Amino acid sequence: MQLRVHAFMESSTVNGPGARAVVWVQGCPLRCPGCWNPQTHDPLRGFQRDVSEILEWFARVSCENRIEGLTISGGEPMEQASAVLELLRRLKAAHPAVTTGLFSGYTERELPDALWRAMQGHLDFAVLGRYNARRRSHDPLVTSTNQVLHLYTTRYSMADFEAQAAEVHIDDTGLAQITGFPVLGSPVLG
Ligand code: SF4
Repeated sequence: MQLRVHAFMESSTVNGPGARAVVWVQGCPLRCPGCWNPQTHDPLRGFQRDVSEILEWFARVSCENRIEGLTISGGEPMEQASAVLELLRRLKAAHPAVTTGLFSGYTERELPDALWRAMQGHLDFAVLGRYNARRRSHDPLVTSTNQVLHLYTTRYSMADFEAQAAEVHIDDTGLAQITGFPVLGSPVLG
């Protein structure tokens, strides 16, 4: 099964507890005004990756970077729910100690029951709800006050989620990636 991806990051400390690999999926129909990541909206942009390839990538980067978990962001992961579910299921089967988190613009009430329950079974945390630029939040991982950080296992408590911060990564080719939260008011990827 394939996932349309916007970007990968091998190690980030601002997308959940500890050092985390991050996958940003491509495609989001929700169009929140003021979205920080509009280049993820078009479902035809980005690139396709087989779930198996993403798992191989994760296995490599988790060894190299002492990765605690994987965070899936977007874009809107629930627009590719079957592939995301397969990724989460196979990741947890192969790496039971790894933690998983997800950002979605949908609220729990909007998500289809059976599918979301299956997804929850493989998630340690999720941040759910649209971004609302008029209700900016400074709470960990939550960009507007209507969004909710849910914990689905006992792996983390709220105290494990650190204050919002941003990161800039520059790779060997000079490609820069910015991720995190609007420290000092800067709009960033994420
Ligand atoms: S904030 Fe998230 S849910 Fe809203 S439009 Fe942007 S990518 Fe989509």
